[in-house]
Amino acid sequence: MGLLQLGTPLNWEKARGTASQVREWGIAQLLTIWRKNKDKERAVLLWGDEIEYLVVAVDEKQQKVRLSLTQAEVLKALAENEELAKHGPVVPDLQGGEAAKNHCTLPTFHPEFGRFMLEATPGKPWSIDFKDLLDVETDMKRRRVIAKQHMSKDQYPVTLTTFPRLGTKDDFISPYYPPSGPALRSQFVPDEIANPHIRFPTLAANIRGRRGRKVELNVPVFRDERTPWPFHDPTVDYDMHNWPEDDDVRNGAAKENCVYMDAMAFGMGSCCLQITFQAKNINEGRILYDQLSPLGPILLALTAATPVYKGFLVDTDVRWNQISRAVDDRTREELGEVPLKNDRWRVPKSRYASNSTYIAQDSRLRPEYLDPDLVIDEKLKQKLFDGGMDDLLATHFAHLFIRDPLVVFSEDLKELDVNGSNHFENIQSTNWQHMRFKPPPPDNPNIGWRVEFRSMEIQMTDFENAAFSIFIVLLSRVILSFDLNLYIPIPRTTENMETAHKRDAVLNDKFWFRKNPFPQRVTPSPSPSIKAKDQTAMTNGTSGSNSILQPLMPASDLPPVEEEYALMTVSEIINGPGASKNATDPLPTLEPVESTSRFPGLIPLLKHYLSSLNLSVTTRCQMERYLDLIAHRADGSLWTNAKWIRHFVRNHEQYKHDSAVNEKVTYDLIKTTIEKIEPREDWSDRKGPGWEMFEVGA
Ligand code: ADP
Ligand code: MG
Ligand code: MG
Ligand code: MG
Ligand code: MG
Ligand code: MG
Repeated sequence: MGLLQLGTPLNWEKARGTASQVREWGIAQLLTIWRKNKDKERAVLLWGDEIEYLVVAVDEKQQKVRLSLTQAEVLKALAENEELAKHGPVVPDLQGGEAAKNHCTLPTFHPEFGRFMLEATPGKPWSIDFKDLLDVETDMKRRRVIAKQHMSKDQYPVTLTTFPRLGTKDDFISPYYPPSGPALRSQFVPDEIANPHIRFPTLAANIRGRRGRKVELNVPVFRDERTPWPFHDPTVDYDMHNWPEDDDVRNGAAKENCVYMDAMAFGMGSCCLQITFQAKNINEGRILYDQLSPLGPILLALTAATPVYKGFLVDTDVRWNQISRAVDDRTREELGEVPLKNDRWRVPKSRYASNSTYIAQDSRLRPEYLDPDLVIDEKLKQKLFDGGMDDLLATHFAHLFIRDPLVVFSEDLKELDVNGSNHFENIQSTNWQHMRFKPPPPDNPNIGWRVEFRSMEIQMTDFENAAFSIFIVLLSRVILSFDLNLYIPIPRTTENMETAHKRDAVLNDKFWFRKNPFPQRVTPSPSPSIKAKDQTAMTNGTSGSNSILQPLMPASDLPPVEEEYALMTVSEIINGPGASKNATDPLPTLEPVESTSRFPGLIPLLKHYLSSLNLSVTTRCQMERYLDLIAHRADGSLWTNAKWIRHFVRNHEQYKHDSAVNEKVTYDLIKTTIEKIEPREDWSDRKGPGWEMFEVGA
């Protein structure tokens, strides 16, 4: 999560009054960073993944799994392992062959919001050389082995998005603490559930303070044959009187037919898979930010892994909206529940939401694509403008800067360090949108403009996490090499994000997507940013882009925006119309440009790109193995983690078809996932773990 500085944090009453100062200082810092870095070129294209784990403790005697509040101990053990620091990990050669040989950098472990969480990133960012791509899966497996080596025997790192019984009435955490502390004021979880670093309880308390009540998460319960109906969450206590916030439920916070949750931990305690790209220059970063944005909801649906909350099957498949609500600090005025009086504006989205801006200086970006509901701070935008920033980028940051800083340290308010980034990062890093545009950090001249892709759910196996990471990385190359145009209006992406929550959305729902992705240039000539084509590491040979370029077109001849996009299934988006499911089939040919009234499919585009690169057979096969997973998720022949978990629960002998996921079911579920992911000889199988377990009926 970054920003783990120490200091004296202000409570909400005090922090509130510092908001304007923090924002203005943040904008001043941003301008300094932007001026210093706007013209920098960086030859190296780098990327990195982030894997988040839950740490569970398996109690064999009681046949029970608990969340283990062990983050600090594990991180300490990792830091103190001198052998590890000196010589790298002492782990078995997991996969053998090419992949294992050329990677030796030690992974990095980080704290996260939950005291039961752990994050691991590669020791240094990956290049986009295929040599590196071949190492990713092994490295992810190795990270898990190293983490496990620094835990006690009964503890395991698991990559489930959420712990199925977080917030139930039983002792679901180890060590046990009773709920209802001063920071979270939750009925269901104690303050000890969060990382004790002062930043985290302050963040939680100030979100609650700003909002004026606890956060509110109501997730529709999955109605099974014997689910009591209407459903009233039986774990809600209407007679608690520890804190004023205990009135929330008496005032209707818990909704009928929903599982109700009331604390930041229910959202920020979820695990995601995030990918960060370093672009060659600011313009390429801006292009990637825009072009990857419409893919956010599609990848959310494909990675769906979250069908259980607080001991109940729910009727949604992903975590996103729960995190969104868990950090939603908007007041009743901002939410539009009461007329505006003290606040500045109505705010349509939570701080954690799908993104609301496009930022590329791209002649294809039509004004109709922009969000008509965008709220910006005009005064701050003017400052950025006066400082020389262009309209689109100034609008982007003036939108992020409508938010108040949540954690303010009094030490930081004495003097502005205009060459620092603390005030800028304060606002930037508490805007959790599905894309993040990251300026270079002032204290490290080696790091450039970066774009983070943030919507994906963590997958149970490293095979899957590697597959999705590599899929996105390859897509980024295809976007740049073919100069793809995936623009759709931002409100359609916002809608898609909602659609992605539906049960089995990946198979049953349709998403807005652009029909023709090929670069249709608009006169006058393309902006300079477009000319910066990616021709490096990944493109050994020709990029193939010329073969699909379409001619320049005067702006007046453009079709109405509504004709540019349509509702498509995930399979149509991924596999293309009638595309072959079978990876061993001959190469797809791209349709002639005139007839691309239908989207050709991301995987056919990727294969077209890969075949232009002269890859070795081994490399090509390995890449195909990852693409196969995505293709088969999209066409339904492989299940999402969400579908697999739901199926596991509903077929468990102790499941009573009443939506309740009890301790034994949870124990068996987690034991099964641990067995599936533990290092085994058969990891060298072509399909690897995570394959057979998601086949239909598995
Ligand atoms: P955050 O939590 O703010 O998203 P982290 O530091 O946890 O950031 O993770 C950032 C990811 O970006 C890591 O995977 C890391 O390898 C990767 N990364 C670090 N530096 C660069 C860089 N210069 N270019 C691209 N990726 C980078
Ligand atoms: Mg993280
Ligand atoms: Mg991180
Ligand atoms: Mg982080
Ligand atoms: Mg982060
Ligand atoms: Mg991140």
